[in-house]
Amino acid sequence: MSLTSEIIEQVKVKNPAEPEFHQAVEEVMESLEPTVERHPEFVKAGIYHRIVEPDRAILFRVPWVDDKGEVHVQKGFRVQYNNAIGPYKGGLRFHPSVTLGIIKFLGFEQIFKNSLTTLPMGGGKGGSDFNPKGKSDGEVMRFCQAFMRELFRHVGPDTDVPAGDIGVGGREIGYLFGYYKKLRNEHTGVLTGKGIEWGGSLIRPEATGYGAVYFAAEMMNVIGESLEGKTALVSGSGNVAQFATEKLLDLGAKPLTFSDSSGYIYDEEGVDRDKLAFVMDLKNVRRGRIKEYTDKYPNAVYTPVDPGQDNNPLWSHKADAAFPSATQNEINAKDAQKLVNNGIKVISEGANMPTTPDGINVFMDNKMLYGLGKAANAGGVAVSGLEMSQNSMRYSWTREEVDNKLQKIMKDIHSAAYETSKAYGDPGNYPLGANIAGFVKVAKAMLAYGVV
Ligand code: NAP
Repeated sequence: MSLTSEIIEQVKVKNPAEPEFHQAVEEVMESLEPTVERHPEFVKAGIYHRIVEPDRAILFRVPWVDDKGEVHVQKGFRVQYNNAIGPYKGGLRFHPSVTLGIIKFLGFEQIFKNSLTTLPMGGGKGGSDFNPKGKSDGEVMRFCQAFMRELFRHVGPDTDVPAGDIGVGGREIGYLFGYYKKLRNEHTGVLTGKGIEWGGSLIRPEATGYGAVYFAAEMMNVIGESLEGKTALVSGSGNVAQFATEKLLDLGAKPLTFSDSSGYIYDEEGVDRDKLAFVMDLKNVRRGRIKEYTDKYPNAVYTPVDPGQDNNPLWSHKADAAFPSATQNEINAKDAQKLVNNGIKVISEGANMPTTPDGINVFMDNKMLYGLGKAANAGGVAVSGLEMSQNSMRYSWTREEVDNKLQKIMKDIHSAAYETSKAYGDPGNYPLGANIAGFVKVAKAMLAYGVV
């Protein structure tokens, strides 16, 4: 058995009932197989065995009181995965589906993603099984304060710098940061995604969605094409989906879809800027459901989720580009095959691990331009890194400066992934190139430190 297969097996045995974590390790380790022969020094130092084990995983109780005075208890997690190249960095997810295994999968991915950004950031992730949906502002605030009441002792601007993810946007970062500031009596860059008035960076909210579109444009460039005039399927309707749609419009493309966990809309006429503004208000202010899009724009079609269905009908529409931007495992092999059959040219993952391993195989077998999440959605954490730099300098760059830096980083990530795939004999295999490029930098730093 090869070293990487052995590690995959060990991870499965030692971490039972964490399928998403197994999936993430398997995906990375399979790509790393060719590095074993080229880097015997990594093998000797036990790097492959060490990198799959988090530095530490913190689990805590989060008790909070709802508007009726009832007490609830949620699980809190922070997994500090690897700080070889910089402080732990990665978002917080508040969603009822959050478990330790989900946070470990996300934290593990984050190591390689952060390394690819070229910025000095280690990997971490955290969150809770708290469901912000349907909660009042007061309830969300009290939950965030209860969460920070424990988290504050484990994080810091040079130790661990969390950010947002699913269910954690500007409102939640505000409550979390406000409470950290209160507890520590420090106004410091301990969280990213902060408001512009209190230490945030311009372009941070936009960065993940914009970055996924910049990455797709880079991939299209390799085959001498652009996104102008192209149609696009976008899933999700949160932060990433909204700003991917905005950048698609900037580049002259035509987005056709949005979704949430209840269903999706298909708008044959295309989502324009007015319709996008409606969705932003619906999701960020009124906190409504995507179904309401068809009340406002009756020409669009709404399809509710059918729990019995073995595929996601959003991906069955004809289009040129796909931007999965909702959640993990939203494209399976059947969906991937439909995308291929319908002539999709490029897939750029705004979400983390949205494609199942079988789905990825379909893309690879068909030589698709497939931008995996840890490369394509690294723009968010990259601008978080730029927010950390601005906080340290006590200085703010303009919108244009940050956007230019973001574009350059996405270009650099693309070329690191592409050039590495070439160096390993499979040009255009972005999963191979991105995983290896991200890994080698971290592995070299781990090697330098000795066995710690
Ligand atoms: P968000 O603002 O909370 O939006 C999430 C969207 O996905 C919502 O439309 C949500 O619908 C939908 N969704 C969530 N869970 C779902 C499920 N189980 N089934 C179907 N739809 C689901 O979160 P976001 O920041 O856009 O994050 C989206 C994805 O991007 C995640 O995979 C996240 O890890 C990844 N990502 C985010 C960032 C960032 O900077 N925010 C950076 C890198 C990667 P409901 O409202 O119905 O739940």
